[in-house]
Amino acid sequence: MLNRRQLIKHLSSLPLIGGFMGQGFSRMPTTVVPQYRDYFKELGVRTFINAAGTYTAMTGSLLLDEVKDAYQYASNEYVMLDELQDKVGERIASLLRCEAATVTSGAFSAMTLATAGVLTGLDEKKAAQIPHLQGTGMKTEVIMQKAHDIGYAHAIRNCGVDIVYVETRKELEEAINDKTAMMVFINAYNFDGKIQTEEFVKIAKKHNIPTLNDCAADVPPVENLWKYTEMGFGLVCFSGGKGLRGPQSAGLLLGKKDLIAAARLSAPPRGDTVGRGMKVNKEEVLGMLIALETYLAKNHEEEWKRWEGQIAHIGDAIKSIKGVTAKTDVPPVANHVPTLNVSWDTGKVRISGDELKEVLRKGHPSIEVAGGGPDSISITTWMLRPGQERIVATRLQEALSEVAVS
Ligand SMILES: *Cc1c(COP(=O)(O)O)cnc(C)c1O
Repeated sequence: MLNRRQLIKHLSSLPLIGGFMGQGFSRMPTTVVPQYRDYFKELGVRTFINAAGTYTAMTGSLLLDEVKDAYQYASNEYVMLDELQDKVGERIASLLRCEAATVTSGAFSAMTLATAGVLTGLDEKKAAQIPHLQGTGMKTEVIMQKAHDIGYAHAIRNCGVDIVYVETRKELEEAINDKTAMMVFINAYNFDGKIQTEEFVKIAKKHNIPTLNDCAADVPPVENLWKYTEMGFGLVCFSGGKGLRGPQSAGLLLGKKDLIAAARLSAPPRGDTVGRGMKVNKEEVLGMLIALETYLAKNHEEEWKRWEGQIAHIGDAIKSIKGVTAKTDVPPVANHVPTLNVSWDTGKVRISGDELKEVLRKGHPSIEVAGGGPDSISITTWMLRPGQERIVATRLQEALSEVAVS
């Protein structure tokens, strides 16, 4: 027989402790029953410290506690999905100083619904015809700058439109014709294209073409949440599960009342639509609102200082290693947070960026960083849990020192 301490030890080493406990161990002291099962461990799924940033492949961000409470609350009640979207949309619009808003299943889905909306207006029959536009009277072209052509344009093409690529202002104005449904802007690429936000909006207004600005990864700064609708973009979208730390499968579509109403025509619960698969459940709709409220209420300056301190702590831990350079940088638009760019002279530090990533990934605890390549990686701290910067600093220092030529 095992004594109590041995039994506890034995139990905690079992992979499926919850299932085991159910089978006649009801007399076990409650203190050994874990609050929740270690599901990821049971499944053999690796968890890690996220010093990389908000990457979909890494499941984005961690939900705020306030959002978890909202999930818990919403999961116990039924509501009508449209009524919830109406009320949450109104609240978000007033918080973000725009005419209207709706919660989508991510920024990608916001782009699809936005496109569907400008094509259909409030005509349900048209919504059912997307993506087959020929002979329907719907417009068929969306204009985008070449420099903004990232994979996300697929969200727009899902509606059956062709994307017309332009570079200069002249090309843009020449591309506008009676088939033009919308002009799309990817905010993160503002400085890569020849036409920047304000000029883009002005041209669109002159020709009376609706505009969409994809700002998925563009908070912080907080002001971006109203900057672009106020600038005159008809529609603006954000990811819910990046800087806002709401549901990773939610997002925001903000903008003009008529355009938001039209976009919702292609969103669930309406079934015969391009957006039916882009469902957002009530927990996520509410969670998105609560994430936003929490984000708006927080002290952004204090948070920024904390990130800077964490970055400095990690930089300090490695800067004395010969051949290593650690520089802090802040990307101008998207992922606008303090970022530590670590690079090294591979003659003095004998490892590649990709190899270093693998070393950190395979260590205990596992750590993910960004970048990689022949001689560099990059690190952000905004997705860390408090205190994890110390683990990142120690592990990085150890990993680099180990391969440093003395
Ligand atoms: C992340 C991202 C998207 C997609 O956002 P989701 O919320 O994951 O759907 C679209 N555009 C840009 C520029 C992004 O960074």
